[in-house]
Amino acid sequence: MYHKFRYSDIVRISDEVYLVSGSNTNWVVVKEGDSATLIDSGYPADYERLLASLVAIGLHQGAVKALLVTHAHNDHIGAAERLRVLHDVPVLMHEEEVPHARRDFLQQVSTGQVLSQALRPGVLPWAFHALRAGGTYHVPVLGPRPFPAPGPLDLPGAPIPIHTPGHTLGHCVYHLPNSGVLVSGDALVTGHPTSQLTGPQLLPDMFHADRERALTSLVVLGGIDADTILPGHGPAHYGSVKDAAAQALQRAEPNAVFG
Ligand SMILES: [Zn+2]
Ligand SMILES: [Zn+2]
Repeated sequence: MYHKFRYSDIVRISDEVYLVSGSNTNWVVVKEGDSATLIDSGYPADYERLLASLVAIGLHQGAVKALLVTHAHNDHIGAAERLRVLHDVPVLMHEEEVPHARRDFLQQVSTGQVLSQALRPGVLPWAFHALRAGGTYHVPVLGPRPFPAPGPLDLPGAPIPIHTPGHTLGHCVYHLPNSGVLVSGDALVTGHPTSQLTGPQLLPDMFHADRERALTSLVVLGGIDADTILPGHGPAHYGSVKDAAAQALQRAEPNAVFG
């Protein structure tokens, strides 16, 4: 049921950059000629949909030079191990996320935390979907790799990882300076089934390993020069990252003064 694929799930941001909506999570394809960088990979149940999206974008099997992971939650690494083993795709992430991807530990919202929020609108439908889509499966990445060096990666789109801890401690966003795009993962989203808000926002509190650091990371995001945001959840946002980060901060901490 979850592998159903519609072409409308793909938004072409530019000739190179595509945002794909999975069953509740996005991934991004950065194309350069015949090869591509994939950023995040949906839930485990999104795997067929992920492969179909690559074909729809005109990529052949083996085109993906690397999977970059914003963070190692199941809705972002669902295909990572299969891509690594079956297609020899390196799976790269911030060094602090490497043990999390291996599942040496798990920084994920607990069933108890979800149940305590069950009366909030959208929480139960989201939780049922997450269960069916593999949100609680044990899907470790057995060979996760840290970035080889600081700065732009030698991959299609020359993505620059920027450490933005809080949601998880090794969370990274990816700046695509040539395209003016920021792939923001779960550090800054534009919607979520458990949120009543639309537009730039922080995910609800229960989802963050360290909410204070997530707020600090929004300040870091505000310094990135890009005018399109492709988040882990919600639609693409067109507008400066600086303004979007400020809006998300204001919504998260209405009484704080940010300067
Ligand atoms: Zn997450
Ligand atoms: Zn997520």
